[in-house]
Amino acid sequence: MLNILLFGPPGAGKGTQSKKLVEKYHLIHLSTGDLLRAEVMANTPLGRQANDIMRKGLLVPDEIVIGMIENKVNANHGAKGFVFDGFPRTIAQAQALDNLLKKLNMSVSKMIALEVEEKELIRRVLQRGKELGRFDDQNEMLVRSRIKIYQSETLPVAEHYKKQGKFVAVYGIGTIEEIFAKICQAISS
Ligand code: ADP
Repeated sequence: MLNILLFGPPGAGKGTQSKKLVEKYHLIHLSTGDLLRAEVMANTPLGRQANDIMRKGLLVPDEIVIGMIENKVNANHGAKGFVFDGFPRTIAQAQALDNLLKKLNMSVSKMIALEVEEKELIRRVLQRGKELGRFDDQNEMLVRSRIKIYQSETLPVAEHYKKQGKFVAVYGIGTIEEIFAKICQAISS
């Protein structure tokens, strides 16, 4: 099984590269951001709760995202593997994921961290805001505060997988194909 964590700040290119990984390795894409937005669209109680938090650029409580990931992993037992995109975003989420996979006799294969300078991240996210109309992508202050939260809450997750010897950094600037080639190299190494 191939279980890839695609890691990086907002605008690093996780969504774009996830799609390509799914195609090449026949994996299942699990994006907590997409799952949460689907709940918001469906106007479920969970979606209403998440919406207020997401519109402020804050992290949704661990129990909520962990529960969503558990459901999806358990619903796909025959899968060849998963691409986790935007999860885990806190140490508690990383520990919960490690435990969940262990129970199923699985484990994280690699964490691929996409690295992009802050100025470029902000440019990309604001551009995406214009194209897709995501509320949290349209305001520069909000984008900057999401990057700050990434640095304080999410970056420690990289340390967690460095300790396990599973961390690989990939420079996230270049063409989509160039970056994808580097990711594939990191996976096969
Ligand atoms: P980006 O990577 O650009 O921030 P996402 O779609 O991954 O976009 O996330 C959008 C929002 O959804 C986040 O700002 C956060 O509020 C919420 N979210 C997504 N994934 C998680 C997670 N694993 N833990 C907590 N909140 C999350």
